Amino acid sequence: MTKRAKRLAANRRTPAKNERGADVRRLAVLGHPVGHSRSPAMQNAALVELGLAGEWSYEAIDATPEGFAPRVEAMPAEGFLGANVTVPHKGAALALADTLSETAREIGAANTLSFADVEIHADNTDAPGFLAALPASPAGSRALVLGAGGAARAVVWALLGEGAEVAVWNRTELRSRNLCADLGGEPVSDPDPWTYGLIVNSTAVGLRGEDPFTELPLREDGFAAGQTVVDMVYADEPTQLLAAAAAAGATTVDGIEVLVRQGALSLAIWTGREAPLDTMRAAART
Ligand code: NAP
Repeated sequence: MTKRAKRLAANRRTPAKNERGADVRRLAVLGHPVGHSRSPAMQNAALVELGLAGEWSYEAIDATPEGFAPRVEAMPAEGFLGANVTVPHKGAALALADTLSETAREIGAANTLSFADVEIHADNTDAPGFLAALPASPAGSRALVLGAGGAARAVVWALLGEGAEVAVWNRTELRSRNLCADLGGEPVSDPDPWTYGLIVNSTAVGLRGEDPFTELPLREDGFAAGQTVVDMVYADEPTQLLAAAAAAGATTVDGIEVLVRQGALSLAIWTGREAPLDTMRAAART
């Protein structure tokens, strides 16, 4: 018996039951903090729509960085079949998995774990979810990605895989240079936004009311029809960035659409069912 199998066996508890006494297949999102996550509302609404509520459930679990690995290793014995992983655990999720998808390995981060017996499999649906949220294939387009954190890595990897030409700007230039050295793309320090067909804000700017036109190399009157502008920041109302882009006639995609798309792909991995996108959108925006 491997060390991991012994640890998992030692953690064995009785899985949760529904009111008919049947085992509930549990899913969760792990983060720190995680209270703000829209994933439980979105995924539970999808389970209801698919007729799986009662047999499946999805919850939020706050796990500190120190507590993350033991928490995950206890989950299979508690009836969990899978989990989403969010900030700050996407790197740790990759490190503790027994098997990795090619996407997760190449990006260097995992947002989806699946448990089969004692094996933990890690996947990344952030990258395909981002692509699914775009109105058209980015193949052949010139893309400007702002940021060099975890979200930017998935976006750059996805765009390069589709054959886009990718420039990466980041406030801390060393990080954009390192990202491009790892994944590809061209680090830029003073981009001209007019020259890009696709602009993606994958920084945290806008999350706490920061002004994108002072913090990022963008101008409020610097967008045009024909461009696509994506803001990964989650917000119920259009962000300042997307409002300016839409006013100029650009096509806009918000962070909630990207969240819905990655969540839909994770749900399909676990249940084998096509996720109900409209139901998930409505729940994520409530
Ligand atoms: P992260 O790894 O912490 O990276 C944060 C990025 O934001 C870094 O590039 C950082 O630049 C930049 N930044 C922060 N404050 C800035 C400022 N005032 N001016 C300029 N740049 C600033 O975070 P992450 O996981 O990549 O997430 C980034 C954003 O995407 C967050 O808002 C997150 O909520 C969102 N997100 C959305 C989805 C979705 O599904 N919609 C998925 C993942 C993430 P430095 O390197 O210079 O610090």
